[in-house]
Amino acid sequence: MANLKLENLNKTFGTVEVIPNVNLDIEDGEFVVFVGPSGCGKSTLLRMIAGLETASSGDILIDGESVVRTPAADRGVSMVFQSYALYPHMTVRQNLSFGLENIGMDKAEIERRIQDASKLLQINELLKRRPTQLSGGQRQRVAIGRSIVREPKIFLFDEPLSNLDAELRVVMRFEISSLHERLGNTMIYVTHDQIEAMTMADKIVVLRKGVIEQVGAPLELYNKPDNKFVAGFIGSPRMNFVDGKATSVTADGFNFSAEGLGDLALPRGQRPVEDNQPVSFGIRPEDLKVVGDEGEGWDFSVSVSEQHGRDTYLHGLLADGTEILVHQPGQFAAKRGDMLKVMPDENAWHLFDSDELAIV
Ligand code: ADP
Ligand code: MG
Repeated sequence: MANLKLENLNKTFGTVEVIPNVNLDIEDGEFVVFVGPSGCGKSTLLRMIAGLETASSGDILIDGESVVRTPAADRGVSMVFQSYALYPHMTVRQNLSFGLENIGMDKAEIERRIQDASKLLQINELLKRRPTQLSGGQRQRVAIGRSIVREPKIFLFDEPLSNLDAELRVVMRFEISSLHERLGNTMIYVTHDQIEAMTMADKIVVLRKGVIEQVGAPLELYNKPDNKFVAGFIGSPRMNFVDGKATSVTADGFNFSAEGLGDLALPRGQRPVEDNQPVSFGIRPEDLKVVGDEGEGWDFSVSVSEQHGRDTYLHGLLADGTEILVHQPGQFAAKRGDMLKVMPDENAWHLFDSDELAIV
């Protein structure tokens, strides 16, 4: 059991600052997901926590004690890699026991840990096999088993499911979440997949270019993104953005105006807007409704209609040329070229200023 604190953590490779300055608190027992596009520094951050990469400056504290200069093996953390990193010439049992034998652990204790872990992961039947005789999902389980037998204070996972097919990913996602429920350890899970982040995390840390953009529970980020990046990254399919400006600003509200779309009256947000200030209006596909083919609403011309059976996704253009996606529940008949009217849900829109910060 352990909490983790990152203080002014920096990583610079040569002259390239990959992690400028990260500050983060992780509570004991939390399942935290680091999510962000490829190359944003997720692995670097995780490897610094693991001790596989030295921090250029700043501190890492586990249970209040600095470990930034502690060797990886003595930090009480254990990492599961995307590549599994199993020893091909060893059996599953040997892969599990190897690290423990190396530190001179008692044989009976090693056996107890292997039994516990293989029962938990349902790999008891596989202990005599070699990695080449296992499926991708089984290999990943063994890799997780190798972390579990070390009984670490903190588990680290670096994109552990990326090499699995879509169906297996869903199964393993559930297994890792259940593992967390049963073990109760602090876990940090890195992924570029926002659905993994949404479905697994107690707390999501959204990273961009080594900078934390927002930290929060999945639905906090979904409902109240602090900026346009988080708004566009969290949620699938992604949020639509329509550029326009704020007009007729009063103490109580203003209009969102975009060419060809008319005016939409909005209440005042957390931060003030100025008359004629350029803003970006954000609306998720599920918060736009087709309201018919005439009357109120934005003109929308359908370019592609995707029928998923339970839902219909309409790709198309607004009158100002903005490409948007509309999610229509159920089976909705529409074809290329159809002209429809769509309305944003009046309680579900977002607004961003030209610095991409949320106004409302
Ligand atoms: P992510 O895991 O989010 O995809 P990484 O942490 O692997 O991103 O990489 C972040 C950035 O740091 C990338 O631009 C990458 O090229 C750079 N980087 C990673 N490791 C090294 C290294 N050993 N030397 C130089 N640059 C590196
Ligand atoms: Mg990575």
